[in-house]
Amino acid sequence: MSTSVSMVGASRVYPGGIPAVDCVDLEVAAGELYVVLGPSGSGKTTMLRMIAGLEPIDAGELRFDGESMTRRAARDRDAALVFQQPVLFPHLSVRSNLTYPARARGVPRPERAARVLEAARAWNVEPLLDRAPRTLSGGQKQRVALARAMVRRPRVLLLDEPFSSLDAPLRAALRNELTDWQRRSGVTTILVTHDQAEALALADRVAVTDRGKILQVGPPHEVYDRPNCRFVAEFLGSPPMNMLPARLEVDGDGRLILSLEGLEPALAFHVRDDLEAHFTRFKTTSGRLDLGLRPEHLAVVESRVPGPREWVLSGTIIRVEPLGHETITSVATGPHVVKVRRPARVSDRVGEVAQVSLNLSRATLFCC
Ligand code: ADP
Ligand code: MG
Repeated sequence: MSTSVSMVGASRVYPGGIPAVDCVDLEVAAGELYVVLGPSGSGKTTMLRMIAGLEPIDAGELRFDGESMTRRAARDRDAALVFQQPVLFPHLSVRSNLTYPARARGVPRPERAARVLEAARAWNVEPLLDRAPRTLSGGQKQRVALARAMVRRPRVLLLDEPFSSLDAPLRAALRNELTDWQRRSGVTTILVTHDQAEALALADRVAVTDRGKILQVGPPHEVYDRPNCRFVAEFLGSPPMNMLPARLEVDGDGRLILSLEGLEPALAFHVRDDLEAHFTRFKTTSGRLDLGLRPEHLAVVESRVPGPREWVLSGTIIRVEPLGHETITSVATGPHVVKVRRPARVSDRVGEVAQVSLNLSRATLFCC
C-alpha cells in the first residue's frame, strides 16, 4: 500500500533568517512521483528534511495518509532520504550497506537477502556487492544509496538532487532506472531538483518553487504550456520562453487590439475572434503586458503573408546555434531578440533578414 503525503501551511524559519519554507501546501498522491523544481536556495532541501523529520516544522502540518506526522520523530515516519552526495558506511561492504537499514528495522534475514538481490539487480550493483565503498565511483555510490533505500521499502522516498553530481549519460540512465523502479514498486517518491529538463522528464506532477513558496503544480506539459507566472515561464524550457512587451486595448467598437511595443513600424492587430476568449482574461487596467511565446511557437517563414493564426515580425538573424537535433536561431527585431526553435539542418545565416511568425494561439500573457 502506498502512502499519501500532505503539507498544510508548513513553514520553517531558520534562526535569524527569513522563512526557508514559507506556508507551503503540498499534496502528493499515494504512489506518485512528485518533483519539486526550483533554483538553488528556494527551500527544496529544507522541505525534504521537514518531511523526513530532520528539520522541525515551525508552523503548519505534515500528514502521511491523513495522519499527523508533524511532531513524530524521524524514525517513526519511515521516510528514507537519499542525499545529493551519497552517504555510505565506509567500513561496511556494499552488501552490508544495502542490508543495514532493513536489519535495523527488524526485517527477517531471508526476506532481507531476497530484497538485497532484487535491489542490486534493479540498480545494477550486483557485481559490486563485495566491494568497499571507497573503491566505487560517484555514480556507483549513488546507485548503492538508491538501492539501499529500495531494500528498506520506506513509506515515502525522498531524493535530494540525486543525479546532480553525475555526468550526463549516467544521469539519463539512472533517471530511467528510477522511473522503472518507482512504477514497479509504487513507493510515493518526492524528488527535488534545480534541473528543469530532469523535472519534466521524471515527474507525474511538478511543483515549481521560488523563495520557499510553491508557485505552480501540475503535470509537466501543463506547467510548461500554461505557466501561471513569469517565473515559471522563464524557469522551464531551454531556451526559455520569449517575452515581448505588449499592450492589449479595446478600440471604439469594443474589439481587442494587441500591439507589440518598441517596433518601427508599430505592429498592432485586432485579436481574431477565435482568440478573443483566450486573450480577454489577460486584460489589465494599464493595458501593459508581456507576451510570452515558447521558441517552438515561433517559425521562420518565407513570406510576409500571415498564416491563419499568425503574426509576422521582420528582423535580422544575429545568432545561429546548431545543437545536433535542432538549431536555435536568434532574430533581432527592433529592440527585441527572439529565439526560434528550428530543425537540425537549416541554412540560416547571421546577418540575413528573416520573417518570424508568431503562433498567437499558443501565447501566454503576463501582467507587468
Ligand atoms: P535549496 O535546497 O533549494 O537550495 P535550502 O533548503 O538548502 O534550498 O535553503 C533554503 C534557504 O534556507 C536558503 O536561503 C539557505 O541559505 C537557508 N538555509 C538552509 N539551511 C540553513 C541552515 N541550517 N541555517 C540557516 N539557513 C539555512
Ligand atoms: Mg538543496
